[in-house]
Order: sequence, then structure tokens, then C-alpha cells
Amino acid sequence: MPPTPKNPGAEMPTAHAEMEALRDAGRTLRTHDLSGCVLYTTSLPCRMCETAAYWDNIERVYTGSDVTDRGKPGYGC
Ligand SMILES: [Zn+2]
Repeated sequence: MPPTPKNPGAEMPTAHAEMEALRDAGRTLRTHDLSGCVLYTTSLPCRMCETAAYWDNIERVYTGSDVTDRGKPGYGC
């Protein structure tokens, strides 16, 4: 059995929490069309996650922070 990586995200660069949530929802609902679903995050999603949410038809994204909390737009994850 391979050793458990200390930081699994380092080996999977797209494994942001938002991406994992979208993947989990797709697997659970057996579709990539997540119309009617919302996404909750602790920080503003990065551009990749924001775009994935758009393409999965996420209607709303609720965040626990705003642009002033991170300083740079587009780099939330
Ligand atoms: Zn992200």
C-alpha cells in the first residue's frame, strides 16, 4: 500500500474543495447538470472552481468571505 501523502492536493492540483464538492454532487446525482444546486464555500472560489460551477449549472455560490479578505480577486482556493 502506498504511503498516504501529507498533502493530497499537492498531487492532484484540481482537488480544490469546491471541485470535490461538484464531483461528489455529480456522482451522487449521476449527472453533471447541477441545476437547482447551490455551492457553499468558506472563501471565494478560484477561477477554475468558479468556471466549473458555471459549467455544472450551479445557480448560486455562497461564500464566507469577500474580496477584501484575500486581497487578490480570482485566487480564492
Ligand atoms: Zn478552486
